[in-house]
Amino acid sequence: MQLIAGNWKMNGLKRHLAELEALLAAPAPPARLVVCPPATLLAAFAERAAGSAVAIGAQDCHPEPAGAFTGDLSAEMLADAGARYVIVGHSERRMGHHETDALVQAKARAAQRAGLAPIVCVGESLAEREAGRTLAVVLAQLAASLPADGPRIVAYEPVWAIGSGRTPSPAEIEEVHAAIVARVGPHVPVLYGGSVNPRNAGPILALPSVGGALVGGASLEARSFLAVAAAARP
Ligand code: PEP
Repeated sequence: MQLIAGNWKMNGLKRHLAELEALLAAPAPPARLVVCPPATLLAAFAERAAGSAVAIGAQDCHPEPAGAFTGDLSAEMLADAGARYVIVGHSERRMGHHETDALVQAKARAAQRAGLAPIVCVGESLAEREAGRTLAVVLAQLAASLPADGPRIVAYEPVWAIGSGRTPSPAEIEEVHAAIVARVGPHVPVLYGGSVNPRNAGPILALPSVGGALVGGASLEARSFLAVAAAARP
C-alpha cells in the first residue's frame, strides 16, 4: 500500500481537530495515511486517532534525547505524545534553519532510536535542476542524510515544486525515484512531494517507483487529502 502523509507545516489550531475527525469518519482509502500536525496538536491528534488507521507524525525533532535545548523537542518526546513518524530535513528547515545533511541524518537516527519512522526529505533547487544536476544533488543528499539501515522513508521534494503549483513531469519524477530506489532498495518507500493535489495525484501515484506522497497544502482539508489518497495504488 502506498503511504500518503500530510504535512500541515505551521498551520492548525484546536478547532482543526475537525479535519482529523472527518478523515476518521470517511471510508478508508486504499493507502496508509499519516497526518503531521504542528507539535501543539500532536498529543490531541494522537489520542483521537488511537486505534484507527490514521497514524500521526511530527515535523521535526532534535538529535538529542533530552537536555538544555530551549524550544526544541526530542524524538522521545514526540513518541511519548503519540507520534509514529517524523519528517526530517524538509527544505523549509534545510533553508530556513540552515540544517545540514549531517544534522538531518542525526535527527533521522534519533527518530529511529525513539521508535519513530523518519521521513527524510531530499530535493533539488530550480537552479540545480536547470543546470542538469538534479540526480547528483538528490543522490548526494540521500547518501549524507539517510541512515544506512533501520525503518526509514524518503520524500523526494523538488524545492521549486513546494507550494508553487508546479511539478516535474511524471517522466522526470520517475527518473529521480528510480535512481533513489536503485540506491535504497525496494523496501524503503519513496514518496513524491511538491504541489500534489487531487488533480495531479493519479498520474504521480501511478508511477512504478513512487511509494506514496508527502502532501502540504492539499492535506489541510480532509476532503482534498482524501481525494489525493483515493488515487493511491492499493
Ligand atoms: C511540503 O511542504 O512537504 C509540500 C509537499 O508542500 P505542498 O504540497 O504544499 O507543495
